[in-house]
Amino acid sequence: MLTIQTPAKDQGHAHGVDLEATFDFLNTLDHDDGFVREHLTSLDDALDWFVDRGVIHHEGADRARAQVTVQPAAADRDLARVRGVRQALREVAEAIAEHRVPSGGALEIVNRALRARQIIELVASPDGCSVDHRHVGDPVDDALARLAEPLVTELTAGHPERIRICASDTCEWVFYDTSRTGRRRWCDMATCGNRAKAARHRARARGGAQAVNPGLDSVPALDLLP
Ligand SMILES: [Zn+2]
Repeated sequence: MLTIQTPAKDQGHAHGVDLEATFDFLNTLDHDDGFVREHLTSLDDALDWFVDRGVIHHEGADRARAQVTVQPAAADRDLARVRGVRQALREVAEAIAEHRVPSGGALEIVNRALRARQIIELVASPDGCSVDHRHVGDPVDDALARLAEPLVTELTAGHPERIRICASDTCEWVFYDTSRTGRRRWCDMATCGNRAKAARHRARARGGAQAVNPGLDSVPALDLLP
């Protein structure tokens, strides 16, 4: 068990992971223009990503790497767990965005991940008390719990209705709609939004706009802006 005093200057390990990090994690499986691109191709990649985003301590990543050297099969197992939780979290995010029940045991997987989270404790400090946290288990589990948490917070105290999946079939980027009207449909107007607009334009030129995707035309142009 690793106990770390929290603080002000705990570089490289943010204690509050935000929803943006969670969505970035989901988007590490990238549907770029129809081609699926896996950014976490190995456990090493995943650990580097966790360290970069401050969801795991360097020491935790080192511990996970050390474990893999004595037990090589652990690398595949850990990577499968990372990808499994990512897939389950995406399913939950998509279900929220689409107002439906998550399928395929996604909730069980996410709940299992959440149970591995760190323990928060108050401890005495010279000027009163401060927050301490203990890592209670496997560093990879801890990182996954940390990434799952912002989604829970958003559901309980945020704006889950602003969770979106990019409307482009070839993108499916998970994003948070920060637009004033809350009706953004594409992850990015400059890419996916414009592609959709161009497709509509082409369809109109052929005289078949309604047949292609009538839904796209039902949103006023101003609301498409991020
Ligand atoms: Zn997109």
